[in-house]
Amino acid sequence: MIKTEICKYCGGDYIPKRRGAQKFCSNSCRSLNWKNNQPIRELKVPVANSIEEKPVIAEKPSLKEKMSLAGIGNAAAGAAVAEIAKNIITPNANKPATKKDIEDLKMFFKTRFLPINNLKKDMHGRTAHYDIQTGNLVFL
Ligand SMILES: [Zn+2]
Repeated sequence: MIKTEICKYCGGDYIPKRRGAQKFCSNSCRSLNWKNNQPIRELKVPVANSIEEKPVIAEKPSLKEKMSLAGIGNAAAGAAVAEIAKNIITPNANKPATKKDIEDLKMFFKTRFLPINNLKKDMHGRTAHYDIQTGNLVFL
């Protein structure tokens, strides 16, 4: 009795030339199976890349992070502005910003460039600053 096997690609019965070593009825089924598997492998590559790229995207500072970055330069001012912002934004407070609040904010934002302490000085010995108007890092 001749033992037949089932082709892994087309599902058809075939008589293997070498038992165990052959998974397909023909070379065309073998290559079609291989070709059909290729797009799946190609798809996996961009998925893997996008996962690797995610941290890079995450490093792009959001507005919130920019605000906290600004705060790095002057923790006291950062805390002050956070307190002012909380007083203004908190719905529970349910009160309009006082003139003092606005003046405090103006005073804070009058300082356009905030020093960034955890960055090295540039080759000219200038200190890194965060430009709160453009959101850029500048050396001054
Ligand atoms: Zn086949």
